[in-house]
Amino acid sequence: MRVERVAKSFNGFKAVDGANLTVEKGQVVAVIGPNGAGKTTLFNLITGHLRPDAGRITFKGEEIAGLPAHRICHKGIARSFQLINIFPRLTVFQNVQVSVLARAGKSGDLFRPVKKMATEETMAILKQVGLAAQANRVSGSLSYGDQKVLEIAIALGNRPELLLLDEPTAGMSPEETAATIALVDHLARSQGLTILFTEHDLDVVFSIAQKIMVMHQGRSIAEGKPDEVRANEEVQRAYLGETA
Ligand code: ADP
Ligand code: MG
Repeated sequence: MRVERVAKSFNGFKAVDGANLTVEKGQVVAVIGPNGAGKTTLFNLITGHLRPDAGRITFKGEEIAGLPAHRICHKGIARSFQLINIFPRLTVFQNVQVSVLARAGKSGDLFRPVKKMATEETMAILKQVGLAAQANRVSGSLSYGDQKVLEIAIALGNRPELLLLDEPTAGMSPEETAATIALVDHLARSQGLTILFTEHDLDVVFSIAQKIMVMHQGRSIAEGKPDEVRANEEVQRAYLGETA
């Protein structure tokens, strides 16, 4: 996936101002930057929840910038949101099944009985993320951390090639954070899933990201291996310096 000189303004304010990013297949890539840097807006542009004013976004060589969100999702890009985005009155199982069925209905899986396939696949996803024991619980009654993990499970129902996670550990306890990071790492390694995530906890970022892009005032000011980014002086001035 490649983002080239992408821009998006809100009433004249440049939230994303010529951002660049390349994500290779199978990579775990983090986008970091201070609050308001434009990270969530960039994700919304990639997933089609917003239309860019300018620039190119290509996925598997195909231009996707400006396509509607459902088309981009169908091409293999799924996401979780910075704020919880589940159906709180449905069970954990139902939340994931809805997503599996939505995908299966549009693909070649119709040769198999869809309901049975969806049940098996839903359970497999819940096992993978560690929510199988909670399958029949009403989602709204889960702990905050489990609700965030459920969002990842819903995204996996789309069988994405590229998974975008916007602050997957925001608001989590240290234990929940550690478990979620282990899950993200496991998904990347076991399935070759490509993962792009934003995260404010830099320890988390440096522990799992193979590549880091730093955003500041809508621009991508650095992109590279964690050590290169850590050593970059502009990054230290713009961002890391703030917390030091
Ligand atoms: P980050 O995720 O890095 O914290 P955001 O992408 O959420 O940053 O926001 C970048 C900037 O764009 C912020 O100043 C924010 O207030 C502004 N912004 C984001 N979405 C909108 C919107 N829908 N309308 C107006 N301003 C917005
Ligand atoms: Mg954000």
